[in-house]
Order: sequence, then structure tokens, then C-alpha cells
Amino acid sequence: MDINKYTYSGDRKFTINDFNANDTGEFDLKNSCMPLFDDNLTRLEAFQDQLYADGKDGILIILQAMDAAGKDGAIKHVFSGLNPAGVDVFNFKQPTDDELMHDYLWRGLKNVPRRGKIAIFNRSYYEDVLVAKVHKLYLTQNLPDRCKTENVIEKRYDHIKHYEQYLWENGITVIKFFLQISKDEQKKQLMERIDDPSKNWKFSKSDFLERRHWDEYQDAYEKAINETAAEKCPWYVIPSDKRWYARFLISEIVVKRFREIDPKYPKLSPEAENDMQAFRGSLT
Ligand code: ATP
Ligand code: MG
Repeated sequence: MDINKYTYSGDRKFTINDFNANDTGEFDLKNSCMPLFDDNLTRLEAFQDQLYADGKDGILIILQAMDAAGKDGAIKHVFSGLNPAGVDVFNFKQPTDDELMHDYLWRGLKNVPRRGKIAIFNRSYYEDVLVAKVHKLYLTQNLPDRCKTENVIEKRYDHIKHYEQYLWENGITVIKFFLQISKDEQKKQLMERIDDPSKNWKFSKSDFLERRHWDEYQDAYEKAINETAAEKCPWYVIPSDKRWYARFLISEIVVKRFREIDPKYPKLSPEAENDMQAFRGSLT
């Protein structure tokens, strides 16, 4: 499976209008990739166990997308087989009053995984260069004037790039996904939130209001991805009109990154080995 086509490491430009959100790679049908998807889930389970036991690396998975692109479903289907003791999911909603009293990286920073664990950010500090850019939120927030300059968003790209490099150098692998859907698919998904009683609870006025800013969001995503793509911390842009393909691709990429991390069960010291063997004989 060639994931290079979906990987942006800063060496080539991401152009959102050239990206086909309906792409399904080499698969015509969901059924043809399901066995591979199931294999990946089994592999993820084993890798997570080793990551937890090893306790050296942490993994931070970031999911960004326009509304109704399938972030929740991706989390549910790709990561639900993992041991809950080793995974935490954080949803980044509108910041609370307390969060607004801090710098914008603060709420993410508190939830960076410890070694051995996986944290999943459903939205993230990237909102502060996306919704914040589209609505110029920094102009109305209670900030000193020097934080409200024209280039505040440009500065944030730099902060984020350095911050993610810092995490990498501290043993935390950041895996960033942008789930790209077409405007037509978003309409279909939003209509389902109205028409399907089991999805009514997902209805939020803001999803419909934000859609009016579609083009501005697309520009903000394109810019954010290009400005923060890095060799050690690339962006993976996931075609998400076909949810089954998006989930498969995410599983494929996480497996690949796990393989690179190569977590291992820790080797016992000779003393611990001796103790173990001694206790084997002493069990009655
Ligand atoms: P879905 O994709 O299913 O619609 P969601 O992630 O949009 O789910 P919601 O409860 O609908 O969840 O919305 C969360 C909202 O919070 C989003 O509109 C997002 O832009 C907003 N948000 C997150 N972080 C910030 C931030 N730092 N500043 C302002 N708004 C933010
Ligand atoms: Mg929403």
C-alpha cells in the first residue's frame, strides 16, 4: 500500500483543490479491503501492548477535519480494540473560560501522552490556526495588543512546528491526520443528522453556520498543512468521502508508524530472570 501519495512532509506542496476526497486507492469496494483492515486492527492491538510494556515512546494522534467528516467514527472503528488503559481520547470543543485564560497550547499540553500511552486528539491546538484564522478570534479575545498583530497566525505556525519537533525529540511521535471530505459529502452527512433520529443528537447549529465559510476553511487547512508539515511530523491527508477507505488508510498509517517505533517487551535483568525461575519452583 503506497501511503506516500497521502503524506506531506514539507517537501511538496499540498493543494487542497487538487485532492480527490473520493479516492479509494486500489480498492473498488469496501469488502475488498476489509480483511486487510481487520489484520491492521489485530496488529495495532499487539503493538499497543508492547508500547505500554516498553514505556519508552508515547504516541499523539491528531484528527482534524471539517464538520461531519467522520472523526468520531474513525476513532470508534480504528482504535476501539485497543486496551483502554493505554489510550485517552480528548475532544477539543470551544475553549472554556479557564482554557481561554491560558496560552493556546496549554490545554493540549496537559494531555500529551506519557510514555507507553496513546493520546487521541479529536481536533486540537490546530483549531487556533483554523477557526481562529477564519473568524479572527484573537481580535476579540482578552489578550494584550502585542498578541493581536496581523501576523499572529503566522507566528502560531512556527510555535506549533517547534512544539511538535520538541515532542519528537522527547520521545513522542505526533501523527497528524486531516480527513478531507467534499462539500457535497458534507451536505449529505449534515442532512443525515437531521433526517436520521439516531443521529439527531449530533445536530449542532454551528456545523451549518460554519459551512458558509467552507472556502475560507479550505484555505486555512491548506495553509496550516503546508506550514506545519515536517519530515518527522508529516501530515497525512485522508480522502474521507468513503469512510471505509479513510478508516483503512488511518489504520495502515498507524501500523506503519508503530513499525518504525518498534516497541519491544522489556528484557528482564539476570536477577529478575533468576527470581522468576526460583518462584516457578516455589509455587504450590
Ligand atoms: P463533528 O465533526 O461531528 O461536527 P465536532 O468536532 O465539530 O464534531 P462539535 O461539538 O460540533 O464537535 O464542535 C466543536 C467546535 O469547537 C468546532 O466548531 C470547533 O471549531 C470549535 N473549537 C475547537 N477549538 C476551538 C478553539 N480553540 N477556538 C474556537 N473554537 C474552537
Ligand atoms: Mg461540529
